[in-house]
Amino acid sequence: MTFQELGLGKALLDALDAAGYSEPTPIQAGAIPPALAGKDVLGIAQTGTGKTASFTLPLIERLSRGRAKARMPRSLIIEPTRELAAQVAENFEKYAANTKLTMALLIGGVAFGPQEKILNQGADVLIATPGRLLDMIERGKILLLDVQIMVVDEADRMLDMGFIPDIEKIFSLVPPRRQTLFFSATMPKEIQSLVSKFLKNPERVEV
Ligand code: AMP
Repeated sequence: MTFQELGLGKALLDALDAAGYSEPTPIQAGAIPPALAGKDVLGIAQTGTGKTASFTLPLIERLSRGRAKARMPRSLIIEPTRELAAQVAENFEKYAANTKLTMALLIGGVAFGPQEKILNQGADVLIATPGRLLDMIERGKILLLDVQIMVVDEADRMLDMGFIPDIEKIFSLVPPRRQTLFFSATMPKEIQSLVSKFLKNPERVEV
């Protein structure tokens, strides 16, 4: 199996070459084709399996044409911690190097000013922790009406950290006609019910 066979375009294939990835990991092979086709995906995978690329690559491919309007991101990646959000942002920059996509990292503990500036210029992708994202929405700095792809990563850690009400709130603010990519290492019943409530006929990929 090659990344080309999964349906990724040249900009991404070149970036993956530069990153030294020779072939997709199992979660990538399972999740990328349905995600590229626009389907909802439920990925059950631990950190270290390559799951970040399994949602980031199809997101980049699907958003590569088009451009965000000011304060209206076209996709959202929610992470439970600042560290994870920063890591995903680093990966995004590497994979999206040959595209014109713009990204804003919205995490607590950093100044609002620079984040607001990027949002005002129009960020295609927001990578955020739930608290800072909701804070910016309440301040009127972000509108989620253009969100086409929503990613929830490490859902079981969100549960452990008490973020499920925040995640439900964010789901209530994105358009119902969107794609949802949802990842968790385990599937406790609270996560199962979140999936039943917010994903539409998801492709389940377990590694
Ligand atoms: P993740 O599980 O997403 O945190 O990824 C774990 C590590 O594997 C990261 O350092 C990635 O850069 C790396 N990685 C992801 N996909 C591949 C791949 N197909 N080939 C080689 N390394 C990869």
